[in-house]
Amino acid sequence: MLEDMDKLVSLCKRRGFVFPSSEIYGGINGFWDYGPLGVELKRNIKDAWWRDNVRMRDDMVGLDSSIIMNPRVWEASGHVGGFSDPMVDCRGTKERYRADQLFVFAYVFPAVNHKGEPTEAWLAGLGGTAGEAGELPEKKAAKLAKRFGQPAAPPSIIPYMQLDPNDRDKVIGPSTDDRGTLTAPRAFNLMFKTFVGALENESNVAYLRPETAQGIFANFKNVVDTGRVKIPFGIAQIGKSFRNEINPRNFTFRSREFEQMEIEFFCRPEEAKEWYAYWRQERFRWYVELGLQSDRLRLRDHDADELAFYSTATADIEYTFPFGISELEGIADRGDYDLSQHMKYSGKDLSYFDEDRKERFVPHVVEPSAGADRATLAFLCEAYTVDEVGGESRTLLKFHPRIAPIKAAVFPLVKRDGMPERAEAIYRELKRHYNVSYDEKGAIGRRYRRQDEAGTPFCVTIDSQTLTDDTVTIRDRDSCRQWRVAGAGVGAALGDLLEGRAVPEAGP
Ligand code: ATP
Repeated sequence: MLEDMDKLVSLCKRRGFVFPSSEIYGGINGFWDYGPLGVELKRNIKDAWWRDNVRMRDDMVGLDSSIIMNPRVWEASGHVGGFSDPMVDCRGTKERYRADQLFVFAYVFPAVNHKGEPTEAWLAGLGGTAGEAGELPEKKAAKLAKRFGQPAAPPSIIPYMQLDPNDRDKVIGPSTDDRGTLTAPRAFNLMFKTFVGALENESNVAYLRPETAQGIFANFKNVVDTGRVKIPFGIAQIGKSFRNEINPRNFTFRSREFEQMEIEFFCRPEEAKEWYAYWRQERFRWYVELGLQSDRLRLRDHDADELAFYSTATADIEYTFPFGISELEGIADRGDYDLSQHMKYSGKDLSYFDEDRKERFVPHVVEPSAGADRATLAFLCEAYTVDEVGGESRTLLKFHPRIAPIKAAVFPLVKRDGMPERAEAIYRELKRHYNVSYDEKGAIGRRYRRQDEAGTPFCVTIDSQTLTDDTVTIRDRDSCRQWRVAGAGVGAALGDLLEGRAVPEAGP
């Protein structure tokens, strides 16, 4: 497992998982591109989500709604009025911080400094998420000590939001050595604004959606009216969302453009508690099954004071990244808040008529809301492994076969004696079913390493024995074990391994 984020970032760049967006122009903060391996990985994760939550269930249907919607949607949802993070600006360096991620290390210094001048209690600010709220950077602490003497006691750590406004002027911001440069927290709307049509005026303002969920609520009546669903049922959607995050950071974890995988599950009010408990467990199980098996994954219930006013229960699925514990997905019991809001703002009746009980009611909703990019990042961190093979260190990505970008690689041992031809034929055959790659360049050991680093679970090698009995070797990524199977049966053998019907054989 990964300890140092920089190692993963460089592997992602080097092997074509993730690139900074528009890099040739210096990039753009908060935007990322998925390269040839990354797009396969992320697509496999989204496909696994869609298959497990939509296709395999009888109580779920899918949706693909537009990114730009009638702006009234965002008034109803509360995003126009309230979707804002309080932010703090540094007047000196022009840096901008999310106020809820800013902490102040409050030191009490001796009454006089080393020059004998009187001092007072001084403070130093440090940005960081709750998970990251670590220590004041050493350099800064040393500078403070030099300026004001040794602090009398360890600092108390105060969230900036809770700081007495009168003390703000004493704070030294994270990016400066001067005090009093941080502003009071100010609301900052996170929605990207644009204009629909030729005229750039207020009446043509529209927004890039900050979540896919509202597209689901806005289509609730359409889906019910098509007559194929009965409560309890869910509507699922995967799609891009946009938030003008104040402080994009931690690689793809907090981006300004990202993809969500959201479910709105509609049920009778009295059954909401049960469905909430079900989805809370079910969504956790999904990550474990796909490979997040370490104790870095956890389920955390929100305390009462963390809940949105309309929610009776919320839980986060969290992962311990190298930069701290952070949210992958939230599961919330949202009551009838969303449908009621849209009824109020649209004037349309969004209640549901239960044919069996002859009853009309506004359904309650349980929302499991996940991020495809954060899931991808967690799977990458979990898979990252360095071990030793034959006295040499190797880096491998231990992806579950379901999400591995490349399922198998086919190699001719050497580029002669008809091996490339036989290998190519097997490659063509496998390619009809799986994403496989072909490589005939370089030493075989190097080719294995390249595939290990891409997370390819199996390699198929055609060697001189193949030419006499048409058997090939299959090599397992994690154990490096090899065993022989009939060349004609390699597709079936690989299928069994990838689908978990067979386990890698103990080989010589
Ligand atoms: P955070 O507190 O980290 O900003 P949030 O609680 O605002 O997240 P939600 O509004 O609950 O997030 O969004 C649901 C999911 O969408 C999150 O669990 C996350 O996986 C994903 N998500 C939200 N914001 C971002 C972002 N800026 N970049 C990547 N994924 C995101």
